[in-house]
Amino acid sequence: MKSLLRILKYLRPYRFLAVTTLFCAMLTTALELVPPWLLKIVIDDVIQARRLALLPWVIIGLLSAYGLKNLFASLRIRFNNTLEQRVVYDLRDQVFTALQRLSVSYYENRSTGEIMSRVNNDTEHVERIFIDGLEGLLTASLTLVGITIMLFALNWKLAVLSLIPIPVLIVSATVFTKRVHGYYHAIRRSAAELNAYLQDALSGIRETMGFNRHAYERGRFNALSQQYSASNLKAMCLWSVYSPSMIFVGSLGTALILWYGVGEVLRGALTVGELVMFLSYLALFYVPINQIHSVNHMLQHALAASERVFDVLDTPPEVQDRPGTVRPAERFQGAVRFDRVSFHYRPDVPVLSDMTLDLKPGERIALVGPSGAGKSTMLKLLMRFYDVQAGAITIDGHDVRDMPLAFLRSQIGLVQQEPFLFNGTVRDNIIYGDLAADQFRIKEVAQAARAHEFIAELPEGYETWIGERGVKLSVGQKQRVSIARVLLKNPPLVIFDEATSNIDTETEVKIREALNYLTQGRTTFIIAHRLSTLHNVDRIVVVDRGRIVEEGLHEELLNRGGLYAGLYEAQFQL
Ligand code: ATP
Repeated sequence: MKSLLRILKYLRPYRFLAVTTLFCAMLTTALELVPPWLLKIVIDDVIQARRLALLPWVIIGLLSAYGLKNLFASLRIRFNNTLEQRVVYDLRDQVFTALQRLSVSYYENRSTGEIMSRVNNDTEHVERIFIDGLEGLLTASLTLVGITIMLFALNWKLAVLSLIPIPVLIVSATVFTKRVHGYYHAIRRSAAELNAYLQDALSGIRETMGFNRHAYERGRFNALSQQYSASNLKAMCLWSVYSPSMIFVGSLGTALILWYGVGEVLRGALTVGELVMFLSYLALFYVPINQIHSVNHMLQHALAASERVFDVLDTPPEVQDRPGTVRPAERFQGAVRFDRVSFHYRPDVPVLSDMTLDLKPGERIALVGPSGAGKSTMLKLLMRFYDVQAGAITIDGHDVRDMPLAFLRSQIGLVQQEPFLFNGTVRDNIIYGDLAADQFRIKEVAQAARAHEFIAELPEGYETWIGERGVKLSVGQKQRVSIARVLLKNPPLVIFDEATSNIDTETEVKIREALNYLTQGRTTFIIAHRLSTLHNVDRIVVVDRGRIVEEGLHEELLNRGGLYAGLYEAQFQL
């Protein structure tokens, strides 16, 4: 109920459209009540009282009623669909905005497919509330009220008899609603699981091919697909018992009227025309009741979906702007300090412990250490993908938590190990660094990033489509495109996560040239995996189990014979 009220609030900006839709629905309903009345005139006045002159007028009246009813029905469909598309557009927009606002931790704890399912499938089901739900519920209720009034106006005794099955219908509807709502939650969950699996399986299709795991993946897909079918069937089974039973209970009303009404006609208390008219209205009376059952059924599905959508809207971002933060400068100089920083993802496993590190503006350092030492985590904290649990990280003396997130991130350029490129052209991907850049500037940064050469050789140069995640480019090429886009962004701080995959020497040289250009005059963190390439940094910082264990230059650290020397030796032997 709370979700339904919340959904209704989305109608507020479109009040006029909602009222117009309702008005058309009311007229359609009112016009539906005209034909049984005309039928009574035909039987009692035209046929039995032999007033044939009335017949043409009755036929004109009947055609006009049908014509107008369908005209208003057409307008209602049009207004209703416009209303529903606008509301669902607003809802989708809100969900996407909420998703963009959420922190990295939200995404690291959920699968992309599951989230996509909420944006696409669940909002689509919410749409059903507006298409068939609210409008159906309103028109059916109005019809019901209209017909009830007619029934009582015609014959109150018959009307009371026809209402006898109603309490049974109400009790059953309440029980059904409760049970089916739970089933629909399960359906939405299995739909999301199926979607999540599908997304994962399609992303990993190369692994499936490489390991020949088609049959295995098909099995996993079918298991989830089966679970989805089974949860749908459960709801449908309940509906298959409920819906016909309710129609049967409703028809008991008709039987009662026949039994009592025929007696009334024989006693002369009722005309044949009146009984036929009453039965016609009674048939109409159960149409909206059955409609309300169906709408309720559909509504439970839509409401279960809406609860999943609202769950996204209601999740507060773990990392967000503190109230009243203002940007501390136009542009940072780039002095970074990790001041006794501690951090963990899970309380029992510390990742960084009391770490202190100072960088002067424009200094280039390499972070080195065994896998899992905490190097990437340090830089996730610098970008505020997560917040430190103790200590502070400052830039030019300002705590990163005391400035707007957008400003902080505008000051840092990130080149990831395997950079993410969007499904678009090379140009689209470079311009991401500065959407206002012109072609001249794009080419300039591509040249500086040593990317122009290979881009020029692509079939359509900068306009070449590079596929999802940039699959049509090699890792080395992706890194250079990524360097170009950071150059366009022109931040005072740079994070460069060196590619771990093997890159040929020629590409390696080009990336290094590009990196040297990129890092000039910018405070730089390089997460280094290949220690042979570490000659061009001001300092090497060795991290182990969340602590800094050594600092210095390559030769010094080698001579010291500590962890760095051990790592270097291990790589050299490989
Ligand atoms: P590598 O060189 O292999 O990339 P790293 O030094 O960059 O390693 P981190 O990625 O910082 O190491 O990881 C530090 C520790 O934190 C590891 O034990 C890792 O398993 C854990 N970790 C990293 N990300 C998460 C996460 N999102 N949730 C839970 N644990 C995480």
